[in-house]
Amino acid sequence: MVDIKSMSLEELTAWFKDRGEPAFRAKQVFRWLYRGVTSFEEMSNLSKTLRRKLAETCTLTPPTVARKQVSAQDGTIKYLWRLADGSCVESVLMRYQHGNTVCISCQVGCRMGCAFCASTVAGKVRDLTPAEMIDQVLFSQIDSGVPVSNIVLMGIGEPLDNFDTVLRFLTLVNHPDGLNIGMRHISLSTCGLTEQIDKLALHELQLTLSVSLHAPDDETRSQIMPVNRSVGVEKLVDTCRRYFEKTGRRISYEYAMIDGVNDADWQADLLARRLKGAPAHVNLIPLNEVEESPLKPSRRVAAFRKRLEDHGITVTVRRKLGGDIDASCGQLRRRAMREDSP
Ligand code: SAH
Repeated sequence: MVDIKSMSLEELTAWFKDRGEPAFRAKQVFRWLYRGVTSFEEMSNLSKTLRRKLAETCTLTPPTVARKQVSAQDGTIKYLWRLADGSCVESVLMRYQHGNTVCISCQVGCRMGCAFCASTVAGKVRDLTPAEMIDQVLFSQIDSGVPVSNIVLMGIGEPLDNFDTVLRFLTLVNHPDGLNIGMRHISLSTCGLTEQIDKLALHELQLTLSVSLHAPDDETRSQIMPVNRSVGVEKLVDTCRRYFEKTGRRISYEYAMIDGVNDADWQADLLARRLKGAPAHVNLIPLNEVEESPLKPSRRVAAFRKRLEDHGITVTVRRKLGGDIDASCGQLRRRAMREDSP
């Protein structure tokens, strides 16, 4: 069976041509897919025969809502989607002044092993397909009635560990007949896979690359992020510098503030030294507590911020949205896994 929704318009056009159908059919079908149809039967401007043929040869696997939580505080909506094979992933729809943003997942689980993250507790089950990523954006909008203008790849999974799928996803959401969302409205967050960052740089996309740094020294970073053991902070920051030189896009460094682990003054000083001279932006994230982890939120966020600013670094502190609904990535899936297991 053909995963028709993971195809580009060009591929779809060639596919239809091979089957003796005119090119405009491909565009008609492509448009239907991005209107969020859940069956080929709904494609009412195609002949009944063609609709039947498509249903016989292609899969269309829209997710269903397994759980949904709406924050009473700020309207943030969290979706737990059930995919065709029964796996679950999360998306979060956040309302910001600069536009509604959906945070989506790219894998079922994660194999990166970060000590503070709920997504990685049970490891990685599988990669998502491009269609499964698109559907999170599409069906969050359809279910909520809230139009989305921004996408962040900061849900479950490591985007650069599912590289080809993520690249295809980006092309599809960017397409005028697809979701038509501009690259500058997309952020991709990575734990810092340097080879893949170099590979991504070659595409010179205008998206924002966020790098989860979380510590400026190898000892601390390797302790909380196993991925650091083979890379190291210096090589990662050098790679980011190269990325900036190639793409002209300023890197955003994420830094989850953990009590007694990465929030000391000397770490702020070292962080500032590491980032000197390259346009960068540090986003401090108040740690979300995860049930499976002993790590606690830092009480030094303001002091750490000031120290970085005194060194001339641009800093923001992430506003906490959906605090009442487990909105940190991976938490709702974990909860459902705990409650659903006997
Ligand atoms: N794998 C990607 C994207 C996933 S998570 C990455 O590592 O960047 C998106 C961001 O949330 C990352 O910066 C991640 O480190 C952070 N994060 C994960 N768990 C968190 C928690 N419990 N509290 C605060 N931030 C967390």
